Amino acid sequence: MDRAALTSLLAEWGQPAYRARQAIEAQRSGADGWGEVSTLPAALRARLEESLPFWALTPDARVESRDGTVKWGLRGVDGAVVEAVLIAHAEGRRTVCVSSQVGCALGCKFCATGAMGPGRNLTASEIVDQVVLAGREAESQGARLTNVVFMGMGEPMQNLDAVLDACGTINHPEGIGISARRIAISTVGWVPGIATLAEHPLPVRLAISLHAADDATRTSLMPINTRYPIASLLAACRRYCDTTGRRVFIEYLLLDGVNDSTADARRLARLLRDGRFHVNLIEYNATGGAYTGSSYGRREVFMRALAELGLEASVRRSRGADVAAACGQLARSRT
Ligand code: SAH
Ligand code: SF4
Repeated sequence: MDRAALTSLLAEWGQPAYRARQAIEAQRSGADGWGEVSTLPAALRARLEESLPFWALTPDARVESRDGTVKWGLRGVDGAVVEAVLIAHAEGRRTVCVSSQVGCALGCKFCATGAMGPGRNLTASEIVDQVVLAGREAESQGARLTNVVFMGMGEPMQNLDAVLDACGTINHPEGIGISARRIAISTVGWVPGIATLAEHPLPVRLAISLHAADDATRTSLMPINTRYPIASLLAACRRYCDTTGRRVFIEYLLLDGVNDSTADARRLARLLRDGRFHVNLIEYNATGGAYTGSSYGRREVFMRALAELGLEASVRRSRGADVAAACGQLARSRT
């Protein structure tokens, strides 16, 4: 549940502010309905029962990958279905990948969510519920939820108010208490959203899905590039860095024969080697489209070419692909 929404409802009713904390605590530790929040007075529980769904999203399906990744299909009160994914790392760390929209209007050619077309925005409560659910799952695995990434279904910057409200609850010590540095918003490159985020007080991380180093290639993969071409996108990123003092994470999906040549690597390095960016090279996850991921050998050559021009990159391994829970594979039809 969203802390700000609940707090303002409780304030309207003349209830003390700590009631919101009690409700969120109960949801985090296993309660599944207002009736189970024993710290609240019975009359208040009854009133809440009539006014606010305890869960804005409820699990509809759950699958577990061979690598321990868990994916849920989650249903809203209107029947809309989105997906959330919990990824297990070494040393007890856990990352939840959350959705911000039901589908996506931006139509990137390599993405299963893009193929669904546009869908409605999620509310802040629906976003927070994904994180609460994942936190409960992590605890059942003897671990702790440490990171939140907006890399599920949808474009977070087209639903930025709700995303930032949700981040408020996720970050708040009386909400979920995850440090803002461990929350990342990934965007297709929605320039006005980047400017808004730069001015926002919460220091969440910004990740940009760049995926190409020249406009022709990027436009062929991502139609948004005709509206915000690479130069305008990177200018917005630089302003963000200068305003916030934080680096920007660049996501680069390696596609065989499309964007993975040594010349591409050199172009990318020239675009990004001013110390403001960190590059994550991403393995392509099959979505039934026309693309193939680059080979291991090609990726090594690409990384070396970046390093020779002074740009360090990390590789983000694919997780959960056997249950279609990996980046770009999330879509209603697959749950
Ligand atoms: N709309 C946002 C966030 C959701 S997509 C964005 O585009 O950034 C999260 C990440 O998954 C993005 O970096 C996206 O480019 C990447 N992605 C999409 N399809 C993919 C695929 N088939 N394989 C690997 N990554 C993919
Ligand atoms: Fe939408 Fe992101 Fe998929 Fe592009 S990659 S279609 S912006 S969800």
